[in-house]
Amino acid sequence: MADDGILVRIWGARGSVPCPGPKTVRYGGETACVELRCGPHLLVFDGGSGIRELGRSLENAGPVEADVFLTHFHLDHILGLPFFKPAYGPDNRVHLHAARLDSSLSLKTILARMMSPPLFPVPIDMYRADVDFRDFVAGDRLEPHPGLVVETRPLDHPGGACGYRVTWQGRSFAYVTDTEHPRDGSLDPNVQALMAGADVAIYDATFTDDEYEVYRGWGHSTWRAGVRAADAAGVGTLLLFHHDPSHDDAAMDRIAADADAARPGTLVATDGMVLRR
Ligand SMILES: [Zn+2]
Ligand SMILES: [Zn+2]
Repeated sequence: MADDGILVRIWGARGSVPCPGPKTVRYGGETACVELRCGPHLLVFDGGSGIRELGRSLENAGPVEADVFLTHFHLDHILGLPFFKPAYGPDNRVHLHAARLDSSLSLKTILARMMSPPLFPVPIDMYRADVDFRDFVAGDRLEPHPGLVVETRPLDHPGGACGYRVTWQGRSFAYVTDTEHPRDGSLDPNVQALMAGADVAIYDATFTDDEYEVYRGWGHSTWRAGVRAADAAGVGTLLLFHHDPSHDDAAMDRIAADADAARPGTLVATDGMVLRR
C-alpha cells in the first residue's frame, strides 16, 4: 500500500458479547475492534474479541508497534486484550490509550484487575512487549506520531465513553461507538465535531428505531440517528457498527438495505471488511 491514504479493517463489529454461530456467519460475531493504517502507523480501536485475530495477523509481520485506543472499559471493548499476542512479544511496542472517565482508576489498574485471578489466570505483567499505559482526558488532542492527530471527545454512555477522530495526510476517520443520540432530536455537538467531513465514520447503530423505544437510556444509538449525524457532518462513508448480538444475518440484511436506501453508500461493518480512502 502507498504511504498516503488510510486503510480501515474491521476485526469485530458487535456490541455486548461475541455471537458466533450459523446465524451470524456473514456479518460476523466478534466484538469491537478496528484496525486503522495510516502510512507506517498501526492504530487499533478497542480490544474486543476481534483483537485476537488482528494479533494473529501480525505474527509474521516482524516487530510490531501499535497504538491501541479504548473507548471505555465495558467488557465487549476489552475482553480480547489478554489474547492480543503482540503484547507478549519482546520485540514489540504497544501503546495503550484510554480516557479517564467517571472513575479515578487508571487504565493500567483497570486492565490489571481484569487480568488477575479469579477472573483471568495470566497477570498483566506477563506482557513481554514494551507496553505503556497512557491516560488522557476526553477532549484532549493527541499526536501519537508526528503528523498523526487523534482528537477525542466524550460520548453519552453509562459510565462514559470516548470517541475519536484521526487525521492523517488530509484523510480523516471517526470512531464513534457506545453513544446515545440526544433524545430531543438535536445533534450531539461532540459527535458532530468528531464526524465533521470524515472520509469514514464508524457509528453506534446497535438498535433499530423500534428497539430503541424499549432501550432508551442504555447509551446506544440507531442507524437512523447515524444517518442524520453523518448527513449533517458531511461524512463520506458511514459505517454502521456495534450490532446487537440478537441481529442475525437476515436482520442485518434488512438494516443494510434500509440504511443504504436512506443514505446511499452507507455500509454495515462486517468482520474482515476493508476500506481504503
Ligand atoms: Zn459496547
Ligand atoms: Zn459500553
